[in-house]
Amino acid sequence: MAIHNIQMVDLHKQYLAIKNEVDAAIAGVIESTQFINGDEVKAFQKELEDYLGVKHVIPCANGTDALQIALMALGLEPGDEIITSDFTFAATVEVVGLLKLKIVLVDVDPNTYCINTDKLKKAITPKTKAIIPVHLFGQCANMESIMQIANENQIAVVEDTAQAIGASYTFNDGTTKKAGTIGTLGTTSFFPSKNLGCYGDGGALFTNDDNLAEIARSIVNHGMKVRYYYDRIGVNSRLDTIQAAILRVKLRHLDEYAAARNKAAVYYDEAFKNHPNIKTPVRDKKSTHVFHQYTLVGCAIDNFELQKRLTEKGVPCMIYYPVPLHTQEAYRTPEMKDEDFEITNGLCKSVFSLPMHTELEEDELAFITKTVKEIIEDIKQ
Ligand SMILES: *Cc1c(COP(=O)(O)O)cnc(C)c1O
Repeated sequence: MAIHNIQMVDLHKQYLAIKNEVDAAIAGVIESTQFINGDEVKAFQKELEDYLGVKHVIPCANGTDALQIALMALGLEPGDEIITSDFTFAATVEVVGLLKLKIVLVDVDPNTYCINTDKLKKAITPKTKAIIPVHLFGQCANMESIMQIANENQIAVVEDTAQAIGASYTFNDGTTKKAGTIGTLGTTSFFPSKNLGCYGDGGALFTNDDNLAEIARSIVNHGMKVRYYYDRIGVNSRLDTIQAAILRVKLRHLDEYAAARNKAAVYYDEAFKNHPNIKTPVRDKKSTHVFHQYTLVGCAIDNFELQKRLTEKGVPCMIYYPVPLHTQEAYRTPEMKDEDFEITNGLCKSVFSLPMHTELEEDELAFITKTVKEIIEDIKQ
């Protein structure tokens, strides 16, 4: 049998495929010495605006900053309530807490793992000022319901698109929009392992609102519009020119990368179809899926045991996410009742994510799926 060196995300193989383009882009920035706010940043901003079909892209330093800046731009008051999902990466709620806003967590949908919109509706109070839907694992949340709820209640929507850049969502009326361009603001991350990843940290905000764009542009730059005149308190959050140059190269490949991820996903789907102990990802008819993660649910198997055994056999496996946010030391409050988070509680004990990237080969996929099935046979209860 072939010797495999399977990676959860194979950034090196991807780099080799675009090495000439990337190396030239980096060398160009070094030659120019415009390391901060260079021409490449503006060019990338424009190209991403065109790709997404959005009026404004505001680059910043990372996806967590993007979320924080989005909430700052909305001009919220301490104590205002922000609703988001219990089943997400901590960055989504961390910024809410940092700004002294109140975190309201809601359970997720058992099929898409995105926020449950019936429960979201019930969580709205007169103090609710924003909803942060997270397009988890590469597929859009139920934006049809979320936008309806938000419009009825005059609430802002900040889409956390860190895992779903490039996905698109089609509404009942037939209009299609890219993830992150539907709500009041969208945010994303260019962390290396994200679908559009740079070679360090990076992030961006999106909006079609001219006024919010102007405010966000000022916040990322210390709250100034005219140099050394400060209109508001801001932060220092920039996308490095070198990262922008790399992102320009990778943006040209983004759709091809999504296709490669989908090809691997289809292989996994087929291999685990009708397996009694495995639930494969459910595709929402309204959203395309860009498979940031290929996340399965195991039935009657301990996901940590499975992860341990897979790792021993050379198959990387990650648990996204192992602990619900409502039980975390940093976030739990007496108001959060464990029984309100039945789906998230169950998912944290049963989900497992398999290698997913743009360079997966068929022999690797064959080895991964065979190994998963063998181990499940061995450990199922
Ligand atoms: C990665 C991620 C973030 C944070 O992005 P960084 O660039 O690492 O700060 C936020 N939300 C979600 C859902 C993420 O996956």
